[in-house]
Amino acid sequence: MANKLFTNLVIFDGSGKKPYVGEVLVQGNRIKTVSRGSNKINREGADVVDADGATLMPGMINCHSHIGYPDSEGLTDIGDLPPEEHILNARANAGTVLDHGFTSVVSAACAKPRLDIVLRNEINAGLSPGPRMRAASPQLIGTGGNGDARQLHMHHQSFEMICDGPVEMRRTVRELIREGVDLIKISNSGDTLGMWPNGQSGYETMAEDEVAAAAEVAHSRGKWLAAHARATGSIELCLKYGIQIIHHATFATTKLLDKLEEKKSKHWVCPAVGILYVCAYEADDWEMLGCDTAMISNVEAELQTAHITMQKMLKRGIRILPFGDYGFAFNPHGADARELEHMVNLLGFKPIETLVAATKWGGEAFAMGGSVEVGEIKAGYLADMLLVDGDPTKDLTLLQDRDNILMVMKDGQYHRSLTRRRASGRRAAAAE
Ligand SMILES: [Zn+2]
Repeated sequence: MANKLFTNLVIFDGSGKKPYVGEVLVQGNRIKTVSRGSNKINREGADVVDADGATLMPGMINCHSHIGYPDSEGLTDIGDLPPEEHILNARANAGTVLDHGFTSVVSAACAKPRLDIVLRNEINAGLSPGPRMRAASPQLIGTGGNGDARQLHMHHQSFEMICDGPVEMRRTVRELIREGVDLIKISNSGDTLGMWPNGQSGYETMAEDEVAAAAEVAHSRGKWLAAHARATGSIELCLKYGIQIIHHATFATTKLLDKLEEKKSKHWVCPAVGILYVCAYEADDWEMLGCDTAMISNVEAELQTAHITMQKMLKRGIRILPFGDYGFAFNPHGADARELEHMVNLLGFKPIETLVAATKWGGEAFAMGGSVEVGEIKAGYLADMLLVDGDPTKDLTLLQDRDNILMVMKDGQYHRSLTRRRASGRRAAAAE
């Protein structure tokens, strides 16, 4: 395979530096050289790709992905889907997210025990298009937890596996690790959207011995954990038992922020506020059932708390990651990049901080303690790169439109090769 040399481009390298003019050489599946300014890379033997002044950036990394959620309206629609249809749906979703510029994902729960595992293996074998994947378990919950859709007289399935007590938790976690998950997902707090009115976001829904049992087994096998943890006590248990990825973390008190800051090299936080935003402000547009007035005011209050909490975390240098909870009819796959705009408008991030979180920090989480190889345009890193029509550091909404993503490269190979810019013939013109 010939080397590929990208020229006439502006580089946002993911590190947080301002975009700069430069060139990038890809050799095999890795970035070989990155040059800056007028320094030219040797063109010999390379396919030269003139990017027409577009911006080259690392592929985005979603660390709260639910590729196995089928863009359904309700929770039981997910469970009702038979495994055969479900895997085909998940396979299509994997293609969709890669098409929209997501080259790596860390799953935050799949919907059936082997769904993520099979899809990850298929993608790794080159048999299906999709992002690099870390495969998760379904959400492990206790009875009445987030996703328990059963009725006393009838069974219903959603996206959950129910484990009551440490014995069931140990057995389930062992079983899922045997099947091949990369990480275990527990849901140890309520959720105003999923459990209204009987298990709101501020409630703890799992006992300490259950959380401890999940962590004990996962850690003993070198696996990571992620938790749906909005409530104060739930976040506290994530810190106590070393749960690396804390989803939402809305109601973190000052005491917990102190602890999180102390251990900030070991944890990532994914607020995933887009789904709350839809319920609060777009429920009618999407005909979202169940978003009544009382629920909406609860969700709006939660959004305000999330803003305050995330601002405090950001000041303390805690790594907060965008994306999450796309995979519902009202928050579908392919719309994930809306979360970038929410990070700025709802949580007070700067656009460039948001993009660093979407790339470099995501790459650090994706590494799961191993060597970091994605998330930056950097010599030696895997060649997962996008070309964007315009400067996303100035306008994050560009990334919401697939047509603005002119090229998607994963592992040095084109998933989508370069299409022309809408206004072509431009020169790269970022300030040096
Ligand atoms: Zn989620």
